[in-house]
Amino acid sequence: MIKVEVAERLRHLPPYLFAEIDRLKREEIKKGADLIDLSIGDPDLPTPGHIINSLKKAAERPENHRYPSYEGMPSFRQAVARWYGERFGVALDPQTEVLSLIGSKEGIGHIPLAFAGPGDVVLYTSPGYPVYPVGALFAGAQGHPLPLLEANGFLPDLEAVPADILKRAKLLFINYPNNPTGATAGEDFFKKVVEFADRHNIIVCHDAAYSEIYYDGRKPASFLQTPGAKEVGIEFHSLSKTYNMTGWRLGFAVGHREVIAGLGKIKTNLDSGVFQAVQEAGITALGTGDAELAGIRQTYQERRDALYAGLTGQGIHVIKPEAAFYLWTRCPKGVFSDSRAFAKHLLEKAGVVATPGVGFGQPGEGYIRFALTVPVERIGEAVSRIGKSL
Ligand SMILES: *Cc1c(COP(=O)(O)O)cnc(C)c1O
Repeated sequence: MIKVEVAERLRHLPPYLFAEIDRLKREEIKKGADLIDLSIGDPDLPTPGHIINSLKKAAERPENHRYPSYEGMPSFRQAVARWYGERFGVALDPQTEVLSLIGSKEGIGHIPLAFAGPGDVVLYTSPGYPVYPVGALFAGAQGHPLPLLEANGFLPDLEAVPADILKRAKLLFINYPNNPTGATAGEDFFKKVVEFADRHNIIVCHDAAYSEIYYDGRKPASFLQTPGAKEVGIEFHSLSKTYNMTGWRLGFAVGHREVIAGLGKIKTNLDSGVFQAVQEAGITALGTGDAELAGIRQTYQERRDALYAGLTGQGIHVIKPEAAFYLWTRCPKGVFSDSRAFAKHLLEKAGVVATPGVGFGQPGEGYIRFALTVPVERIGEAVSRIGKSL
């Protein structure tokens, strides 16, 4: 019988803050409660049929059954470059400036291994995607959160980073459209980021997973549209949210060629790329017409408008998201001690599951996140139940 001892890095993982909510959720389900689950950051809509058909055809071809190349098929990388040109007006060299990923989470988690180690710092915005600090931790580097505050439009104050941290900073993760706040960033902010990164020699990693989920027809920008951005960093993208393909595991990184090469070096040594049939379906996905995507956006828009109006009507302070499919909402003041207490109340008294903001980092305390991943009728029902519970 061996004694299993986990490595330091696993002992240093942040505590899992959703354990109690998970337990309560299981209990309620066992009791037969009709829960409305607004905690899931995963589209409920199916992958469009033309993409599925493309996978079926590609899966039949024996040449797709072999190991793919780690960097992605030339045809997939060309499709990415074409899409970037059409959507953002950004020119990319498919050979050196595009890298396929097994979902963008894979690239985000791995990139610190290429550019940061013991003694180095990885800056990341918080509240945010938990993978940024964990990737830093696994690389032996120190994560340093940059708080996103409502008063600053959920943009980080780059000038507030202490000098001793700045000196050791190698990477900066930013994420717009932002999960969980729904904020977007404009040209002004991206310009500041380019200037900051250039001045302090920091690689920028912009997570743009939600660039195609937006409201009121206002398209978010790519970081790479900013002059000089390609000289300081890369952008992570994903087919997961845009085309309802979270289970397929397909994303990509684009931008600075040496940064792309460094991430590629890690990947050659750790994985063997994306199943080619999935890449072929990805090419089809990137060619999807605007009408189809407009339909998906319309569905989220109806849900956002219903939940925003419903909660606001009950006196709850909601930040109206400009993009992504979440509502970042303040916990009613003086009524609940913290975000976990509010989430517990919603679960037990309204049968509504939402995510306590503190789970995305300490600056998220005082907020709760609702995901718009259920049909609009269920959102209406959730609003009426929440109203009765308060
Ligand atoms: C969903 C999500 C991703 C994308 O994950 P994939 O691995 O591409 O499925 C990346 N960043 C954020 C902030 C997300 O919410």
